[in-house]
Amino acid sequence: MVRMLLVGPPGAGKGTQAVLLSDAFSIPAISTGDIFRANVRDETPLGIEAKGYMDRGEYVPDSLTNALVADRLAQKDCELGFLLDGYPRTLDQVRALDEVLASQGNQLDVVVELTVDPEIVIDRIRGRATEQGRTDDSEDVVRNRLELYARETAPLIEVYGGRGLLVSVDGIGAIDDVTQRIVEELARRGFSA
Ligand code: ADP
Repeated sequence: MVRMLLVGPPGAGKGTQAVLLSDAFSIPAISTGDIFRANVRDETPLGIEAKGYMDRGEYVPDSLTNALVADRLAQKDCELGFLLDGYPRTLDQVRALDEVLASQGNQLDVVVELTVDPEIVIDRIRGRATEQGRTDDSEDVVRNRLELYARETAPLIEVYGGRGLLVSVDGIGAIDDVTQRIVEELARRGFSA
């Protein structure tokens, strides 16, 4: 039982680790990027609204994002824990999440930061652009996303560090090795898979 979130720059491997950790800990992975992409693909009203922001490498407005996550966290499968990937990404989203969890009498247990060298991130995203054809993986848009991360999201690391929740894990290496590192760090904090 763990309520955790994964933070790290675009291309750090959060989505990949989210799937593996969700499996290991039997908790749902809530990846806001994936949810938005599914809505864009299905041309839902949310997807139509989100698409422009995503294609420009901007954040989808908090009004849409916060409501989406609040809704998801209220679902039954989140009662025994969850893993948030890609949310919160702004200090306002941190506040919104705190409120949603407090209203349930809950709070976060741990925040895992995946660290990676920016050069490696750019190489990885270049590979992903070719493989998956994500419309937000072009060179310009990626640069925008990295800047936005540094400006808007990196400050969250200090906030969660100040709360004593932060665990930083080296995101470089084989996928399974990174998962193993995270699992070990969580075990050290009393959360076992
Ligand atoms: P990455 O972490 O590589 O940027 P994601 O799949 O997590 O990729 O997100 C893709 C896009 O979805 C973001 O660039 C943004 O437009 C949108 N998005 C995802 N999560 C959020 C969020 N919490 N707040 C605002 N926008 C978001």
